[in-house]
Amino acid sequence: MFLYVSEGFISWFMMTARVEYCLLFLLLILSISVAGISAMPNTYQQPLSGTFEQPLIGFSWPTQQIPVVVEEHPEYARDAVLDAMQIWNLAQTWFSNTYMVPSRPYKFVEVEQPGQSYVKITFNQTQTKDDWGYTWWYYWYDSDGVFYKITVLISLDLNLRDGGSLGPTELQVLATHELGHALGLNHTVFSEMDLMNHFSPGHRITTPSTLNLYAVALLSGVTSRNDMPQNPVTLPQNIPYWTPSESVIPEIPFPLITLTLGLGIAMTLIRVSKWRRAK
Ligand SMILES: [Zn+2]
Repeated sequence: MFLYVSEGFISWFMMTARVEYCLLFLLLILSISVAGISAMPNTYQQPLSGTFEQPLIGFSWPTQQIPVVVEEHPEYARDAVLDAMQIWNLAQTWFSNTYMVPSRPYKFVEVEQPGQSYVKITFNQTQTKDDWGYTWWYYWYDSDGVFYKITVLISLDLNLRDGGSLGPTELQVLATHELGHALGLNHTVFSEMDLMNHFSPGHRITTPSTLNLYAVALLSGVTSRNDMPQNPVTLPQNIPYWTPSESVIPEIPFPLITLTLGLGIAMTLIRVSKWRRAK
């Protein structure tokens, strides 16, 4: 019924109104639907009880940009790591905008040659430890406690002992978890559905929780070990514990999505109308 009415309405509209009006109308509909999608709460986990505590490792990055060297092959594994880096980059901005938490979001940036501080990611053809992935971290601070060098080594398994292998999604989940360690987060224990839980890779948690992100936001404001946030980090009253899905963390900010899609439709309509006139 709705489809029939709207179809009829649109064809009436297209016939009577000029292309420009159609365009405005479509843009309006588009904006409403995009706004609706991005405003939809998308919680897929909410632990029932327990204290949500995020333990910290004990270091924080002195720089906003974090250089990452990723092993080049295999390409699907490298792409999975780049996606995981992007998730952290976008999630931090999403978090600080959504909850008005001042932060200096870290940005994982892929580099060819590492400088003094870096994250290095390699792929392990066969599983050698019980864990699918492993992170080693080393950090140095001067006499004032200011961190000046951080090196993080991450190893990700491609094939498992039981003969199975990790697909792109599993690798991305694993990389996102290990990159959480690279940012200074230790394991959480309250729920296996938290990204930073030891067993989270098996649960396909692809994004950090608000607790993970709050801890990173606090760390991002600190460059000395004397100013470290209280460990473990707990959420303030006004921030609920939940894990946003990837769709909640938009790649392009909302107004830009509308603009891009709108321009696309505009170009198409203008072309169609020119083609009609030419005929
Ligand atoms: Zn871990």
